[in-house]
Amino acid sequence: MTRNKGMTRSELMGRVRQKGTSPELRVQGILREMGIRFRTNVRTLPGRPDIANRTKRFAIFVHGCFWHRHRGCGRTTTPKTNAVFWLTKFAANIERDKAKSRELRRSGFKVVTVWECETRHPDRLRRKLERVLWNN
Ligand SMILES: [Zn+2]
Repeated sequence: MTRNKGMTRSELMGRVRQKGTSPELRVQGILREMGIRFRTNVRTLPGRPDIANRTKRFAIFVHGCFWHRHRGCGRTTTPKTNAVFWLTKFAANIERDKAKSRELRRSGFKVVTVWECETRHPDRLRRKLERVLWNN
């Protein structure tokens, strides 16, 4: 019997399902539950926020813990090989993130960073979003 390296049907389905509940979609779902309107990948705003509402003056970035270096998070690992490459890349990502937030804040936006790992705890995440978005 030859080993099949391709994905089984259920593995494929798993991928699809995972895609359907990506961190970004989870955040969008919570916002909808909260009755908050928003647009996604807003190119017309600095840093092209993942989620934003120009009128309500908020912008949300949904960050992968690994790429954007969520401090103290178990997902924020550093590959042992090519460490210099990775550290340079991570530093650039962090710098870019800071610059985006700064620019948005200057334009009067509330900027919220949602970490990928936070989307695993929807209740907690909802409280965080309520705290930031409903507190005016
Ligand atoms: Zn994290």
